[in-house]
Amino acid sequence: MSSSTSLFEVRNLEKHYPINRGLFNTEVGRVRAVDGISFSVERGETIGIVGESGCGKSTAATSMIRLEEPTAGEIDFRGEDITEYDEKELRRFRREVQMIFQDPDSSFNPRMNIGNAVAEPLIVQGFDDEQRRRAIVGDLLERVGLSADDMNRFPHEFSGGQKQRIALARALAVNPSLLVADEPVSALDVSIQSEVLRLIDRFQDELGLAVVVISHDLGVVQEICDRVAVMYLGEFVEVGPTEELFTDPQHPYTRALLSAIPTPDPTERGLGVELTGDVPEPSDPPSGCRFHTRCPEVIPPEGIDLAQDTWRSVLHLRKQVIADQVDLESIAEVGAIEAGDEFGSMDEVEAEDIDNDRLIGWVRQEYELPNQLGDTSAEQTLSQALEELVSGQQEAAAETLTERFETVCERQDPETRSLSPDHRVACHLTDDSVVGSTDSENEYRRQLSSPE
Ligand code: SF4
Repeated sequence: MSSSTSLFEVRNLEKHYPINRGLFNTEVGRVRAVDGISFSVERGETIGIVGESGCGKSTAATSMIRLEEPTAGEIDFRGEDITEYDEKELRRFRREVQMIFQDPDSSFNPRMNIGNAVAEPLIVQGFDDEQRRRAIVGDLLERVGLSADDMNRFPHEFSGGQKQRIALARALAVNPSLLVADEPVSALDVSIQSEVLRLIDRFQDELGLAVVVISHDLGVVQEICDRVAVMYLGEFVEVGPTEELFTDPQHPYTRALLSAIPTPDPTERGLGVELTGDVPEPSDPPSGCRFHTRCPEVIPPEGIDLAQDTWRSVLHLRKQVIADQVDLESIAEVGAIEAGDEFGSMDEVEAEDIDNDRLIGWVRQEYELPNQLGDTSAEQTLSQALEELVSGQQEAAAETLTERFETVCERQDPETRSLSPDHRVACHLTDDSVVGSTDSENEYRRQLSSPE
């Protein structure tokens, strides 16, 4: 028995999938789909879990109710750890917790009429009074905005929005305490998304349901959630009350997601940042802060004073040099052609024996780096690394760049810090012991927190 007073509480939940290879099926790695998330839901509360596709949120949903067995962690429901439940106890738990999915079509047997589909959970739970069952089903259909007469019709006779309403009626048939809704409206037309969300909200109010909504869409969670957990690559990076998180987001990933919500005035929200690239593979998450390979606000090392976009370009170049992915031949070819040189083929470009200074200029152009960085010490390092690179010393160039430009964000995993009892975030920018130790870092943080 746990001391938790929440209806549902998840602590350090993990779901890893082993990667096995070879004759003996040896484990060579792990896909860390969910990697230590914690949250709680109270009765009558709606919490949203948001993140891009591939961040692990759907796996979190199925693992937290043991549709998939978690790898590690504790999950308390009414103060009992459900990871310890046997089959009989799990059946009882499943009556209390219902799930609705993104695609209502996949939830229904096309040959079973709607009345029987909605009654199914009642039958599974041993409710065998048929007349009473029909009365309950008729009432539920009416409560979700359909008619009791619809019970003899089949799934194909209903629209997507109506099917999601029927899925909701079926989930509510056994009077659950917790509803887990995985992308409940993303397959629906925008015009009917709000109707379904309002319906979930109404039942949450009327029945005192606890609801967990999984969505890639911050607009959806803003509409119905009391609190939001932002998930990136298997971890929660920020958890807070919806209003606070929308008006004063503390994590760069949250800021980037908010910036992506379309508004009539694009300057209205956040830093106007755009996320580039995909979520990295959860089998090989980046070191330190997992978001550092895409973070628009990644922290420069002490003493480096560059504009954020120039700093991002330096980081991008460094990453490509380390991976030996700077294609000097193509850069030279494009550079020479753009400069108006009369080359017909790569052989001719090579034969022309382009001097290093020209090539360095084209590399800077390719990586959107100015001819001179504003910061003298950064410029010295970059110039040295570029000289090494174009002279064929890729490893030396990688070392030079790493020695000076390695950021705390890739070295150190940020601790999750509580900003208030309800609001927690995992980012070095909120940690005075990491940021703020020097004047330039203080200034950097000041600029980020007050975008003009
Ligand atoms: S720790 Fe660094 S990389 Fe991670 S979110 Fe914060 S600023 Fe960005």
